[in-house]
Amino acid sequence: MKHSVKELQVKGKKVIVRVDFNVPFKDDGSIRDDNRIVAALPTINELINKGARVILMSHLGKIDFKKEPEEIEKAKKKNSLASVAKRLSELLKQEVIFSSVTRGEELESKVAALKDGQVLLMQNSRYEKGESKNDPALSEYWASLGDAYVMDAFGSAHRAHCTTVGIPEYMKKEGKPVAYGYLVEKEIHALGRCVNPQENERPYIAILGGFKVSSKIQVIDALLKKCDNVLICGAMAYTFFRAQGYKTGNSFVEEDQLEYAKQCLNSGKIVLPVQTVVANSFDNPTDVKTVNVYDLPDGMEGMDIGPNTLDVFEGYIKNAKTIFWNGPAGVFEKEGFQAGTLGICKAIAANKGAFSVVGGGDSAAAVKQFGYSNEFSHVSTGGGASLEMIQFDGQLPGIVVLED
Ligand code: ADP
Ligand code: MG
Repeated sequence: MKHSVKELQVKGKKVIVRVDFNVPFKDDGSIRDDNRIVAALPTINELINKGARVILMSHLGKIDFKKEPEEIEKAKKKNSLASVAKRLSELLKQEVIFSSVTRGEELESKVAALKDGQVLLMQNSRYEKGESKNDPALSEYWASLGDAYVMDAFGSAHRAHCTTVGIPEYMKKEGKPVAYGYLVEKEIHALGRCVNPQENERPYIAILGGFKVSSKIQVIDALLKKCDNVLICGAMAYTFFRAQGYKTGNSFVEEDQLEYAKQCLNSGKIVLPVQTVVANSFDNPTDVKTVNVYDLPDGMEGMDIGPNTLDVFEGYIKNAKTIFWNGPAGVFEKEGFQAGTLGICKAIAANKGAFSVVGGGDSAAAVKQFGYSNEFSHVSTGGGASLEMIQFDGQLPGIVVLED
């Protein structure tokens, strides 16, 4: 059995909380979008109200330890959580103590000085080479800093690292409680409904778009098994067109995925665009046309699905009772190629009876940009993690480890 943070009795106890503060930054170093910090507040506030001494751990960006020492130092500076501590403190309306190191005297003394209801944020866990390797000594050390562990970093739950798997394993060995937080609870619940919907929650459709077939092969496989139909859009549609023998001009096609695409088509569940919006250039589109997919002109590149495709997709969306969407329908970042992605937002919003989930970093950004975040049953905060939830029937390492 797994336990909720709600059940923890932690007054005066030091609670390690794995959060996902891997936020995007602007060029000037300020936080571009604090969504992920906001998403962690319910769990942090719950622990503050319980009088716990809260120790937050998160990763931020990547640090390549194979690089030269100066490069590593640069990456560390760039990926410091210091400004996140400031933002968190504004959101919590209380001081957030920041430990600029991930081990040693400063961290240990700041942890020891914590009072009930106080919050400390440890520096980026990836400052430690061992974090991504789930290094046992590092896990044991970090686990020794706390009396309990809460997992609320859904976006990292698909990775078996020290802060997601190693620490709770050590805690359990020592009889210390481990639990999931509110964000993880919400995600498990919503994505769980997309893993295996009941008969009365069908038809179940998936809409898959975005960039690469190759990066999503496993999830396509899983969705073909689970769904009644899989609607394909985005750049990956062109690999399917080529597999059918159509000309694809300068569109993005993965030649090494053609056989796989044919296999998927054999399932009989794939629905492809019938029309596409093409441009003479990706970076500087001066000539833009809507054409039938079997009539894609030489020298042009597919950028979005056309209105006739939307009509077809709307038919499936209207009838669906469960909808999982990953991957924008077109190059939504560019004006002129947003209609497909926006149209899908509108069609899903119009089907009030359906349970609808969006997963994926760019997809969630698109939905937010168009103002449709509240029109879905759930917008997942996890990119890779939301796809892996479906692929592995909810069995992510950072979630499985929370079982007694
Ligand atoms: P997510 O992050 O939601 O999983 P992906 O990373 O797979 O989505 O894909 C998002 C990217 O796919 C976007 O940057 C979008 O511009 C791009 N994209 C969508 N359609 C096309 C297309 N026809 N040609 C090129 N890029 C596309
Ligand atoms: Mg992406």
